Amino acid sequence: MTDTLRAKALRTIKSFGDGALGHYIGGRSVPGEGTTFDVFEPASGGTLGQARDATGAEVDAAVAAAREAFPAWAALPGTKRRAILHKVADLIEARADEIAAVECLDAGQAWRFMSKAALRGAENFRFFADKAPSAADGHSLPTGEHLNYTTRHPIGPVAVITPWNTPFMLSTWKIAPALAAGCTVVHKPAEWSPYSARLLVEIAHEAGLPAGVFNAVNGLGETTGKRLTEHPDIKAIAFVGESKTGSAIMRQGSETLKRVHFELGGKNPVIVFEDADFDRALDAALFMIYSLNGQRCTSSSRLLVQRSIYDRFIAAAAERVKNLKVGDPFDPLTEVGPLIHQRHYDKVASYMKVATDEGARIAAGGARHEGAGDGYFFQPTLFAGAEQSMRVAQEEIFGPVLTAIPFDDEADAIAKANDVQYGLAAYLWTNDLGRGLRVANAVEAGMVWVNSENVRHLPTPFGGTKASGIGRDGGDWSFDFYMETKNVALAYGTHKIQRLGV
Ligand code: NAD
Repeated sequence: MTDTLRAKALRTIKSFGDGALGHYIGGRSVPGEGTTFDVFEPASGGTLGQARDATGAEVDAAVAAAREAFPAWAALPGTKRRAILHKVADLIEARADEIAAVECLDAGQAWRFMSKAALRGAENFRFFADKAPSAADGHSLPTGEHLNYTTRHPIGPVAVITPWNTPFMLSTWKIAPALAAGCTVVHKPAEWSPYSARLLVEIAHEAGLPAGVFNAVNGLGETTGKRLTEHPDIKAIAFVGESKTGSAIMRQGSETLKRVHFELGGKNPVIVFEDADFDRALDAALFMIYSLNGQRCTSSSRLLVQRSIYDRFIAAAAERVKNLKVGDPFDPLTEVGPLIHQRHYDKVASYMKVATDEGARIAAGGARHEGAGDGYFFQPTLFAGAEQSMRVAQEEIFGPVLTAIPFDDEADAIAKANDVQYGLAAYLWTNDLGRGLRVANAVEAGMVWVNSENVRHLPTPFGGTKASGIGRDGGDWSFDFYMETKNVALAYGTHKIQRLGV
């Protein structure tokens, strides 16, 4: 099965053409003339191929195509947009194994998670397809003398810029609502895992999306990404990535007053109180940090455990961490695959010395994982005895690395949970309902799960506070970003108008 899936992914990549991966502009493949960069296979460290950094003219052409296609797409009845987006979902489902295989190959993510992620991409399209007919709906806000009503209108061509960790699922999350709202899109996927984005744009056109509605350009952040975010015809930027990149994008977009939606980094606490269901809390904490190779914005990267159960919890966790199955992403039994890139591997590995220099103890892992291949495999790692002030408790490592910190009581747990620059997600484990409510209220996070791992429900808002983001995805929140709200006030003809100059 492993060889078949890998061969399938290689065939798909080959189908994009012999040369470097280019762009998809105005409904057709554009080879591109920009410089090339290598794309690596995380599991082997070998080169999978090259992709092109879009030139200024190519970015301009993609934006021009999106601008030209905008009026007709925005004017299309929502029911017609719904039909096309459902067709996209059908085709994603039909090719889910192929998409998942491409994610395993160029993002190094394990098959057991990617097979579901591809299907979630289809669900994202279906969910927003069904909302397309009502996207423009507003409110009726009458007074005695005026009828106010609001309507929503798609904002225009938007840029969607995505990271490398779960590239396909994440991009559908942004692109589906943008298209459902009536916006046109220029997507720039991450340079370390660009292939599944090409698959998505091809599938969308096969489903009947008109040319120019959805364009994709490849390239580096500092060049292609920057050009896109500075372009005057791009009206909004939906960005998922690092917090410091978010700051750069805000600066780049400031001249043209871009609307921004940022989903950024996290250092999310999982807080385990002594009265929690020990086994379920342990399962969830480990799942949230070691699935997706720890390259997950909502990972539970800080384990805050009440002191009375700390030693028992850490011992149980360490045993499980040592037992995790690290290996070939295509092997259905693999739980942890390789990191995305040598540069990211070096970053994650560098935290081992940071941890021990600061006085934390490596309770599991801590070194390269041997025997799985020549790629970027790192052992799942657990730091114990850490303090909240340490760098390993403050900085986003974005790998299979968990930092465990003891706390004394509810107040201490809340103080420690909030003592980071980030505020994306928090996970609480307690069987005391009142405590669950109090802590959920007090933690600074955009999303809190009580007695649960991250279980996504598309109508709910997804996003972060503090350095973790601006804005929310999901449900109607997505449309608030991709659409302008207009208020119309109609007078009944009865109100008094001041008469000047009489
Ligand atoms: P990154 O910020 O380095 O890159 C993300 C994207 O931005 C890439 O496509 C990159 O090419 C582009 N980019 C880089 N510099 C740019 C610039 N100056 N102008 C325009 N575009 C630019 O992030 P990454 O390393 O690819 O991804 C990991 C990060 O993403 C982590 O911090 C993680 O927490 C975050 N993330 C957040 C969420 C969320 O929902 N909050 C989800 C997934 C990942």
